[in-house]
Amino acid sequence: MTRAERIAIGSIGLGCLVLALKGAAWWISASAALYSDALETTVNVAASTIALYAIHLAAKPADDEHPYGHDKAEFFGAVIVGVLIFIAALSIFWEAWKEAWAPHLLTLSGRAIGLNVAATVLNFVWSLHLTRQGRRLRSAALAADARHLMADVVTSVIIVVGVALVLLTGRASIDPAIAALAGVYVLYSGVRTVSTSVGGLMDAAPDPAVVARIRQVVSDAATGALEAHDLRSRHAGRLAFLEFHLVVPGNMTVAESHAICDRIEAALKAEMEYLVVTIHVEPEVKAKQHGVPVL
Ligand code: ZN
Ligand code: ZN
Repeated sequence: MTRAERIAIGSIGLGCLVLALKGAAWWISASAALYSDALETTVNVAASTIALYAIHLAAKPADDEHPYGHDKAEFFGAVIVGVLIFIAALSIFWEAWKEAWAPHLLTLSGRAIGLNVAATVLNFVWSLHLTRQGRRLRSAALAADARHLMADVVTSVIIVVGVALVLLTGRASIDPAIAALAGVYVLYSGVRTVSTSVGGLMDAAPDPAVVARIRQVVSDAATGALEAHDLRSRHAGRLAFLEFHLVVPGNMTVAESHAICDRIEAALKAEMEYLVVTIHVEPEVKAKQHGVPVL
């Protein structure tokens, strides 16, 4: 089992715990707001399960049918989780709309709020952990799960803040206004999750900073070659693929040019071990003079 899979299983376990806490809060208070909050947590558990399945698929080694590996499965998982975030945003807007037309003062017991706050703190801490691990393990599915949890935290916070403000000011219109604001945040979070994952599915280039660094490393390590051009890179989940043409003097031996390729590959791997490099060697008549200058 990979580390990402273990973390995803942890997410499901935490989701169940949070669900139990929020369910208890609803049981005590019989509040509609807490009911919808608990209901949303079942979606959390579903999202974490989807993330786990996607990570499990992505971890399978390359085979004859998928010679480039299964890493992109993570993007599919992340898109589905992104759509769930989207739906969460719509349900917040719907609740806010209903509240705006038919406001009603909520009464919540201290114990119910306490349970809900404890569940939200757990979600918040785990979401930060997931965000960090998602970045470290280059896992799109974990990152999406983290965004989904954070959307849940925001929803829970506005429910509590909204109720508190209504109780303090006596103005029932504040609650739906705050809910709508949080809905905008959750919507944005969903759009970002979907768009980054679709970018991965469409073979989007890595960050410009990463591409610039790749060009620099190639340029530094290619001593003996004349030029590198047609450099293309794309990221596919954990891995990123890089290919380019390396122009060498026409009379250089195959062994010599291959040694240059090995040196470039080693230098790239030393910094970015997730990079899969393919280099096409060609003689100097092919030089284009518009690629990465090799000194
Ligand atoms: Zn070429
Ligand atoms: Zn080789």
